Amino acid sequence: MLKKIVIGNWKMNPVSLKDADKLFSSAAKSISKVRKTEIVICPPFIYLERLRKLSKKINLGAQDTFWGDVGAFTGEVSAEMLYNLGVKYTIVGHSERRALGEENIDINKKLKALLSARITPILCVGETSRDESHEYFNVVRTQIKECLSGINKNLISKIIIAYEPVWAISSTPNRRDATALDSREMSVFIRKVLSDIATPAIAKDTRVIYGGSVSERDAEEFLRYGGVDGVLSGRASLTAEKFVKIIKIAESI
Ligand code: PEP
Repeated sequence: MLKKIVIGNWKMNPVSLKDADKLFSSAAKSISKVRKTEIVICPPFIYLERLRKLSKKINLGAQDTFWGDVGAFTGEVSAEMLYNLGVKYTIVGHSERRALGEENIDINKKLKALLSARITPILCVGETSRDESHEYFNVVRTQIKECLSGINKNLISKIIIAYEPVWAISSTPNRRDATALDSREMSVFIRKVLSDIATPAIAKDTRVIYGGSVSERDAEEFLRYGGVDGVLSGRASLTAEKFVKIIKIAESI
């Protein structure tokens, strides 16, 4: 069985280093007994340096990177820079970035840069809506195939695939809840796609997680019945008690 992972995506929150420090520290102090679950917090870039000094138990993740390694790329942050700061994981292909124009071809280059920098990529995939003819499976297949294009098969299991149906994410207007069955169905499908791209063994060894308004109320349902190795939480990760409850649920399963 793959190790469970709980990831918090803080997005563009909180507004000050003081608040970031408080949120991170209050999560860190409540998880001293957690042994089996990997914990990751992805704060805004500017808080990474400070937060890495606060806990050994919580791994640091970034919310994005750039594909170039060094040079004239105003406003960008490279994978190697993140690695040098102690970052172990980085989210790429989040739907909020895809909505700003990021495409699979860009995500593919970012994945390659992260793998070269020895950072674990968290690749977000997911359809914006569901349709009766099940076209959404093709949407997810295309995202995975294009994002993983040209990546050495043996590196695929180093990538975490986060299934995030956009229609379930808390920031989506008129969002609706996804069920553990939705997650299970898609995680089986994602593994089938990975198996076609690489091998069944590589697909089995690749962590697939669920994200989309996961809370302390439904985390158990997703972790037990959603066919996933962990969860990615946005809004709930901004409240230390809720995030810690999700971690403890993962730990108890
Ligand atoms: C996300 O956008 O990555 C996410 C999981 O957000 P939320 O939990 O707030 O839906």
